[in-house]
Parts: sequence; C-alpha cells; structure tokens
Amino acid sequence: MEKYEAVIGLEVHAQLLTDSKIFATSSTAAGKEPNTLTDPVTLGLPGCLPVLNKRAVDFAIKLGLATNCEIQRVSVFARKHYFYPDLPKGYQISQYDKPLCTRGGIDIRVGGQKKHIGITRIHLEEDAGKNIHSDAAAVSLVDLNRAGVPLVEIVSEPDMRTAQEAGAYMRQLRQILRYLGICDGNMEEGSLRCDANVSVRPAGEAKLGTKVEIKNLNSFRFVEKALDYEISRQTALLDQAKEIVQETRLWDDQKGATRSMRSKEYAEDYRYFPDPDLLPLVVGHDWVEKTREGLPELPHQVFLRFKQMYGLDDYYAELLTEEKITAHYYDQAVAIHHSPASIANWITTELFGRLNKEGLDMSRCPVSPENLAALVTLIDEDVISGKIAKTVFDEMFQTGASPKAIVEARKLKQISDPAVIIELIDEIIKNNPKQVEEYRQGKTKMLGFFVGQVMKETEGKANPALVNSLLEERLKGPVAKYSPCCE
Ligand code: ADP
Ligand code: MG
Repeated sequence: MEKYEAVIGLEVHAQLLTDSKIFATSSTAAGKEPNTLTDPVTLGLPGCLPVLNKRAVDFAIKLGLATNCEIQRVSVFARKHYFYPDLPKGYQISQYDKPLCTRGGIDIRVGGQKKHIGITRIHLEEDAGKNIHSDAAAVSLVDLNRAGVPLVEIVSEPDMRTAQEAGAYMRQLRQILRYLGICDGNMEEGSLRCDANVSVRPAGEAKLGTKVEIKNLNSFRFVEKALDYEISRQTALLDQAKEIVQETRLWDDQKGATRSMRSKEYAEDYRYFPDPDLLPLVVGHDWVEKTREGLPELPHQVFLRFKQMYGLDDYYAELLTEEKITAHYYDQAVAIHHSPASIANWITTELFGRLNKEGLDMSRCPVSPENLAALVTLIDEDVISGKIAKTVFDEMFQTGASPKAIVEARKLKQISDPAVIIELIDEIIKNNPKQVEEYRQGKTKMLGFFVGQVMKETEGKANPALVNSLLEERLKGPVAKYSPCCE
C-alpha cells in the first residue's frame, strides 16, 4: 500500500462567449489593438454604474444545470479588493458567499473506471486586464481589452487523488463548456485557466493536509506535470518530517518544477463586501426551467447513446464524442448508411489521421458525412475493395468529390466477375509453372505470390475474397478449360 495520498481540488476559470462584457457594452473580441475595447465602466471611471449582461447569467445557468448544480434563486455580486495595474477600480466584481450555482458534480472516467467529482460552486465574475512587460523598453504596459470579460469560476471539491484524475476532470469540463457553446475552451489563449490546489496526507488519515495552490496552468499537460511534481515535493517533505508551507506556487516548465510565488492570502485580505452598485441577482424558476429544456445533448449522454444505439465500445464512443461536431458528423453519416462500426473506424483512423496531418480540425473537414457514408456503401456493396477505398478517400479529401464520381472517372470499380478473374488466373498459372509446382508440393504460402500477381494485373481492383477462393480452386489440380455455361 502507498504510504501517502494526494488530495486535489481545482479552481477553473472559463471565459464566456458573450459579445459584450459582463457589466459594460464594450466588445469581448480577442486580438484587437490594445485599449480599443474599453468604455467608462471598463476603465473604472468614477460615477459609472455596471449593468449586468443577461446572457452571461444565462450561460452560467446552463453550465450549472449541465454540471448538476442547484441554481440559487438569489445570488450576490461582491467586491474583491486588491491592487494591481490591470484592475483599474481597485476591486474585482465577483460573487462571494452567495454564488449562483452550488452543490453539483460530474463523472469522470479514468482507466475505464467512473468517478464522481463534486463541484462546490460556480460563480460569475469579471476578468482583469493584461500587463505586458517589455524588458527591451524597460516599461510595463496595460491593456484593458480583457478587463470585464465575463468569467465563470468553477470550484471543485477536493475529490481528486491523482494528476491523471485532475487532467480527466479538466478535459471533461472543457468538453461540457464546448458542447454548451459557452466557452471555446482554448487553454493556450487563456479562455480556460486552472489553479490547482494540492495537499498530501498519510494514507488512511481523514484530515486534509496543508495545501499549496499552483496558479495559472494554461495547458492540460502543465496541470498534470505541475501536480505530479508538487505531490513528490510534498511527499518528500513529509518523509523528512518537514513542514509544508501553505502558499501559492508557480509552475516553471523550463525547470520542470514549481516555485514559491507568495504566501497564501486569506479571504479577509480581500475585504469582500456586497457591491452596492448591483442589485442581488434574482433568477426565477421559469428562467431555470426554460434553460433546462433548451440544453443540448451533453457529452456523457451522447457517449451512452452511441454505445446503446450503435453498439460502439468505450474507445470509439469516447473518440467520436470528444467534440460535438464530430458526434454530429457521425450521426449524419450513419443515418445515411447504417454501418456504424465501419463508419466509426473510417472517421477515427483515416479521417482523423488526414485532418491531423493537414493541421485541420473537424470544422474544416473537406469530406462531407454524405460522401463518407457513400464511400462505406461502395465497400459494403462490394463495388470497391477496402484497399481501393483508401485511394478513393485520398482523392475525396483533396477534392471534396463524391466517391462515386471518383470511382467512375478513374475506373476503380472492383472486378467481381469470376470469368474475368479465372481467365487471368489461368494465364498466371501457365506462366509460372515453377511456383505452381511448389504450391502443389505443399508450399501453401505460395498463394500470396499468386494473389499478388492477380492484383498486379488488375491494378488492385480484383475482389480479394473471390481471387483467393478461385486461386485455391484452380491451383488444386491440372487446369481445365473454364466453361461457365456448364456450371
Ligand atoms: P481557499 O480559501 O484557500 O480559497 P477553498 O476552501 O476555497 O480554499 O478551496 C479552494 C480549492 O482548494 C477547492 O477546489 C478545494 O477543493 C481545494 N482544497 C481545499 N482544501 C484542500 C486541501 N487540503 N487539499 C487539496 N485541495 C484543497
Ligand atoms: Mg477560494
């Protein structure tokens, strides 16, 4: 048994895809000229009042419902005070003791096992601006375009035990956010950010150990690497009976280590109080129920449906539901041609492989679901072999053409006429007496040679199953003249 157990809780920030900011009218667009997306509220000019963006609330309710939270009828915006140049008001508007969503949770799958991770709360808040430090010019610049962009903060229970579980939880959250269409989930660009809290305690101990918070992890890999590092660091300290200091640390990927950033700050330090500029947020029963009805099918629901409806195993169901657009593509293709296993296989191997190679994602997939279904139909109806299908697929991917058109234009139809194949076989048998003799002496491996010859002659178009059975038959004994009329 392991001597220690790690305990992990995550605080995840997700930028909401609203057009305008959470309390102001400026746009939330990314990549614009610095400080062009501002207004008196965003700049924190005195005397300006914030007005809550209804769509941001709507998105947060969606997320709350999708993660099985209770939606609070009354929640309250509070001021969280701290000083930083990217925060012009001197406080961030957030929710504190009365958040919008509480007591939820989601299931993750790790190593084929399901595990429930509790969600303590989800609240709404505003993002801060960005400080840009220029060493060359020896100045620091402030860009307030991001200030006031709506965020949800999703706080988990300390329910995770390994870095792998934390990674799975993050991925699952991202998938839900993307299915709901409320966040693009782009970690590199900062639309999804994670602070990881981790402590280590002796196995069997009920009390939680002293936690360390690792700030601003902007990729799944960093979350996992930083947690693994931090777990070993804390384990080593416990082993030496040294004290673990409660603090905030940063992940340094160059060094592959976390380092201390500051000692922990406590809630009192922020001087939270309800924002007098904003009324309590009241969300009526009707609003919640209407939102619930409008929820799309969620990732785990599609996952289960794919398994039940199409007989897929976990592996395929997971790959095909990772992105909503892929799940939709699959549904469409199977609706046209009901060959779920084969279509699942084509999407996850050939299609994903090609997209990956070209650096494309599903939204820019050149092969329509109709065309993929048509390709699998041609295979299933023995019009083309699986091997030729790969050639056809290649051209479909490059040109977007239909498989039928390609097969016709390039004369790729499978040869399934026994008379034609037998004629070829007999010719090959006549021209390769040595190999025939070897085969008849019991060297059955020679069959491959003959199959190869037929395929060469037909440019791979002969029906492989037919070639095999006819070859076996013709190679058995002295070749009789084939006369189809006598059969
Ligand atoms: P703080 O007051 O420091 O912000 P919270 O109680 O709000 O702490 O918890 C923040 C996050 O840290 C939550 O995700 C929670 O699950 C997690 N957490 C709390 N205590 C521990 C602990 N001892 N070890 C690991 N994670 C913890
Ligand atoms: Mg906290």
